[in-house]
Amino acid sequence: MFCYHCQEAKKNIACDTAGICGKKADVSSLHDLLTYALKGLSFYAVQAAQSDITDINIDKFTARALYSMVTNVNFDPAVFVQLISEAVQRREHLKRILLESGVDLNKEEVPEEAQWIYDQIELAAFVKKGETVGVKPNEELSADELDLHAAREMLIYAAKGLGSILEHAQVLGVFELEHYVFMHESVAYTLRKDPGLDDILAMNFKCGEQSILAMALLERINIEKFGQPTATKVHLDTWDTPGILVSGHDFHDLQDLLEQSAGSGVDIYTHGEMIAAHGYPAFNKYFNLVANYGGAWQDQKTQFGKFQGPVLVTSNSLQQPKKGYTEKAYTSGMVGWPNVAHIEKRRADKAKDFSRIIEQALQCEPPLPLTEGTVTVGYGRQALIALTEAISQSIKSGGIKRIIVLVGCDGRHKERRYYTGLVEALPEDTLILTAGDTKYRFHQLDLGEINGVPRLLDAGQTQDFYAIIAFLTHLQKSMQLEHLNQLPVSFNIAWYEQHTILMMLSLLALGVKNLRIGPTLPPFFSPGILQKLTDELAVKGIDTPENDIAAMLAGE
Ligand code: SF4
Repeated sequence: MFCYHCQEAKKNIACDTAGICGKKADVSSLHDLLTYALKGLSFYAVQAAQSDITDINIDKFTARALYSMVTNVNFDPAVFVQLISEAVQRREHLKRILLESGVDLNKEEVPEEAQWIYDQIELAAFVKKGETVGVKPNEELSADELDLHAAREMLIYAAKGLGSILEHAQVLGVFELEHYVFMHESVAYTLRKDPGLDDILAMNFKCGEQSILAMALLERINIEKFGQPTATKVHLDTWDTPGILVSGHDFHDLQDLLEQSAGSGVDIYTHGEMIAAHGYPAFNKYFNLVANYGGAWQDQKTQFGKFQGPVLVTSNSLQQPKKGYTEKAYTSGMVGWPNVAHIEKRRADKAKDFSRIIEQALQCEPPLPLTEGTVTVGYGRQALIALTEAISQSIKSGGIKRIIVLVGCDGRHKERRYYTGLVEALPEDTLILTAGDTKYRFHQLDLGEINGVPRLLDAGQTQDFYAIIAFLTHLQKSMQLEHLNQLPVSFNIAWYEQHTILMMLSLLALGVKNLRIGPTLPPFFSPGILQKLTDELAVKGIDTPENDIAAMLAGE
């Protein structure tokens, strides 16, 4: 096992015996084999697209399969055995279609990833094969190979993040072919031996660029389905009726559950990034959507137990359920843990069936209180753009000295206290824009206002980072500036998994300079990659809050 997918990689090098996330060596090996098989599938999907042959089922499958490997999504070996066999079967099916259509499949050398066929669909055999095709440990690579290998790995992680955004959009009924064409191109690109480091990094940046378009697509469908998010106060306390806690990002699941539980006597609470739902009119209309309970994903082992009622985990951020709430834990969509109840997928336009969770909730005690008060969510793109005039005037008058974009995911490392310390120490003439669950480090702080604009503006889930980019671009244009770098804005990304890698790449694609990434630099930043990003875009890690504040205020 060698996995350095995420920020919690052991010693910031790699998990090599078992994942800090709970991923066992067999599942890691299955992830490696699924990645290998998807590369083979995308190899032919790229050729198909060049001949105007598309297969929507292959596209959707690939996005789903990429998403399944995002950190903390799925830990169930049986799911990966099925996905691996399906990837190979779909590849062979596509190959037959290409041959029947007269496409010359010999014009390119066929990589082994596009040739491998299993003898039998069997867990042990797949694990064994996966052990031979995984990420190579750094010590087995020369300095040149290390940079190329790391850049290719970064591209695969970006593609996994992209697959996840596309799957979320697809669940809501939107499919736009060009996104999937690029997804296959990026996955297949990692098979090519000819590109140098600059080329692979350029492809990574292109993936960042594409992710902005994919996030825009998801924003569009969210607004179409659930309305424009608006600034909304969210309660953090508890009621004395039984509840169901919903975690993750899947608004469609939340909507089905709210519809089925309305009037049942069961309250619905959000957890983690699902807190963003409170900002949407489509969810606010349900009286039984009462509050947010708990914090970011890494606190779930204690918080899910104290909730006392059932917990539904709808997308990434799952940890191994602890005794005490395992029998009340449910997963849905691509999320899974062996022997944890999984809600059957949606059939055609029918809602998912959450009746057994609602019935179980009615037998449970109400949640134990964790905290109280309120926080404000719902500063989506339109709500932010409505503040443009007030913010630009404050920048011109000196009321706002700096905008700090503090976005990304939370995690377990104690070094993440930095983000609380940073926000506490920021001067009162700074504005903070946030998205993702790193906000749990500071969103209960009373930060006041600047000329009527709240100092902390929460745009929503990780992918609502798009709203922040769109707003800043609007602000830049309204102030007649030529580039984002001319705005008094500093970007500070708290990275954890593959979505945050995409955030980073999207900013780098936009040419943003002085981007900070913490609490540690990604372990797959090889020396050559780091050198390039440092030299060309002044990318850096974090220091102390005090030093970083001084540097950010100086525009560094
Ligand atoms: Fe380790 Fe992260 Fe990989 Fe899990 S996903 S095995 S924590 S590097």
